[in-house]
Amino acid sequence: MGGCQFTGEVKEAQPPIRVGLIADVQYADIPDSHSPYGTVRSYRDALNKVGFAVKDWAAQSCALAVDLGDTIDRRAGAEADLASRTVLSNFKGFAPVFHIMGNHELSALPAPHPQLLDTAGGCAAVGHLDIDCGPGGYCCDIHVGPGWKVLILDTYDVAVKRNAAEARALRTRLLREAQQEGIRAAYLTEHEEMNGAIGEQQMGWLRGRLGMARESMQRMVVLSHAPLQPEATYYGDAACWNCHEVSDLLDSFQDVVALVVTGHDHIGGEAVSKGGIHHRVLEAAMEGAKGEPTHAFLELCPGNPGLRLVGRGAVRHWKPADLSVGETEEEAKKGEEKGAGDKKDDEKDDKKDHKKDDEKDDKK
Ligand SMILES: [Zn+2]
Repeated sequence: MGGCQFTGEVKEAQPPIRVGLIADVQYADIPDSHSPYGTVRSYRDALNKVGFAVKDWAAQSCALAVDLGDTIDRRAGAEADLASRTVLSNFKGFAPVFHIMGNHELSALPAPHPQLLDTAGGCAAVGHLDIDCGPGGYCCDIHVGPGWKVLILDTYDVAVKRNAAEARALRTRLLREAQQEGIRAAYLTEHEEMNGAIGEQQMGWLRGRLGMARESMQRMVVLSHAPLQPEATYYGDAACWNCHEVSDLLDSFQDVVALVVTGHDHIGGEAVSKGGIHHRVLEAAMEGAKGEPTHAFLELCPGNPGLRLVGRGAVRHWKPADLSVGETEEEAKKGEEKGAGDKKDDEKDDKKDHKKDDEKDDKK
């Protein structure tokens, strides 16, 4: 394993701090289906994806891993609880793993679900890590090593499945404000269980944690299920209801926040915020090629920018020096045959051709 030299900065060859990532595992014991844009969704192969990930995270000596949410698929129906126990047991080859609550968990499982709470909600008990649990128990700030923190946000803090009246009132207010400002806000109009918001208390906690990180000159990677930039999503609809408010707060700590990584929008995407922070949506595990890994890990090193994202299978690499779309491992191997950017554009066009509006409702 290489040392901390990937950003071109000359650093002592110390190993980077590694943090495993996987998004949208969506396990269910149901047959494959297709996404609206033509990819195969393999709900059962999701268990293999978890198997590949935990082995790799262990081999890379990751300090921890974060499952970005939607660990089960709501189509598991009455079997959702069994599906949850099955997929969580497949994560046992690596620890600690923090499981973020996604919309599928909220829709399919009785809330709050204790097994998913265990790692995020019971985070104070996670061994060697210095963790501050935020309000509600589904968000936390983790000191992962010298100079680096990973902060997990709960983008379903205010959600129809948790507090229906409050959620609907907030959604209505945000939609009215967006309409007044002429902002296209598909993330507020899609079916109400798909997205949610970060509440006032969590916003206050986030502000406090960002301030403390600044004071102690630590940098931070922010993780959540729902994206915080609608521009990073394929249809512009799979984002946190108050994404602009949250993103603006992060932008005011642009010296602290090095990267935002989320799940929820399966194709994977990216955008740069007004303040220059890179937002990355990780490719969904259950839409990766069958029998192939689909996960990632972060490498964190001293200095600025001091980080990169290493993708496996369909998950594209990313590093700050190259803000364009990265290559997957497969594309890197194919090399010069065709430019990776061209290829990605072609793939996007293909996906657009497959888009069917009447299937949009079923896409997350
Ligand atoms: Zn989701």
